[in-house]
Amino acid sequence: MSAPATPTAGTWSAPGRVNLIGEHTDYNDGFVFPFAIEFRTSVELTTRADGRIRVSSSFSDESVEVALADLADVFPARRDEIVEWARYPLGVAWALLEATGTDPSAVPGVDLAFRSDVPVGAGLSSSAAIEGATASALDEVWALGLDRVALAKIGRRAENEAVGAPTGIMDQMASMLGRADAGTFLDCRSLEAQVVDLGFAAAGLELLVMDTKVTHAHSTGGYGERRAACERGAEIMGVPALRDLTVDDLARAHELMDDVTFRRVKHVVTEDQRVLDAVASLRAEGPRAIGHLLDASHVSMRDDFEISVPELDLAVDTARAAGAVGARMTGGGFGGAAIALVDHDLVPAVTAAVEQAFADAGFTAPHIFTVTPSEGARRDA
Ligand code: ADP
Ligand code: MG
Repeated sequence: MSAPATPTAGTWSAPGRVNLIGEHTDYNDGFVFPFAIEFRTSVELTTRADGRIRVSSSFSDESVEVALADLADVFPARRDEIVEWARYPLGVAWALLEATGTDPSAVPGVDLAFRSDVPVGAGLSSSAAIEGATASALDEVWALGLDRVALAKIGRRAENEAVGAPTGIMDQMASMLGRADAGTFLDCRSLEAQVVDLGFAAAGLELLVMDTKVTHAHSTGGYGERRAACERGAEIMGVPALRDLTVDDLARAHELMDDVTFRRVKHVVTEDQRVLDAVASLRAEGPRAIGHLLDASHVSMRDDFEISVPELDLAVDTARAAGAVGARMTGGGFGGAAIALVDHDLVPAVTAAVEQAFADAGFTAPHIFTVTPSEGARRDA
């Protein structure tokens, strides 16, 4: 046992994210363009001398404690024995030890206490925030020396294998790599990331999040079915991933596959192109130029990928009618939040219009707020 005689302590945090554009493209090896937001999950870490890991959270009354040496027995085979939220941080600890071939007896035990102001299940990736905070803290205290991309991969592995949610790498990369006033343009095949200035404030724009309060569940929802359709489409087209197709291939795809599979493929292929167009438009003309791409992205998810819900459609349509530059649902779908790019002065009017539309439709009141592109995972204290 190499635990230090005096416990070390510190605080690390990682943000949630909003995906500006590029939905369901990450697991197709394609392009995404998210940014980290100012809402964060922080973890207070204290080392302990008994080789155990304990996780607690403001999110839950239940804390969970396991011997580090037992993590390899728990994950992934017996993960169901662990309360779901605790699989995120414990899964990160497991994946870190596993991926680095670290002997659990060679690192100190830890107490991890989480607090968060990232809304859960709203499509803002509270999951990547808790993974990123955990990975950053343990990497430093266990002296593993992984870089940010490696830590993002650890988070994804924890989410896929320890939690059982088949999500891609976007959320973790956005949370690890975020910068103030900038987005992360990510190639999900090479994991090459470019920081792109967003310039919202300079253009007098705000990014509004409209949380519909309709909850989604990745582990059980239609997410897995959409992934399967994408894999089927790539196989029919004889390519490793849908990333390898362009809009010029869609006519042939239409001939070769059933209508549903084709529309899933069409969404992903056109969405990849919209991400590239959005980055180019931002660089050339600034954020006002991306409004129509946000709108087109929503239509594609609504009609071709079929992952919207009436609440998301109403939020998007109402925000646009009230003067938004562009709007789309964001996140995995089946609920969660929509975003709208709105002139600073129009924020109250757009907010009021969406609230009124929800009340008129008899929907649960939405939660509407602005977000600011912010810094990624970091040590705070
Ligand atoms: P999203 O990432 O869109 O918020 P997910 O379903 O991917 O939604 O992840 C949400 C889950 O992550 C929660 O149900 C919970 O299990 C876990 N989680 C997120 N933040 C925390 C936290 N601060 N403390 C404990 N668990 C958390
Ligand atoms: Mg998530």
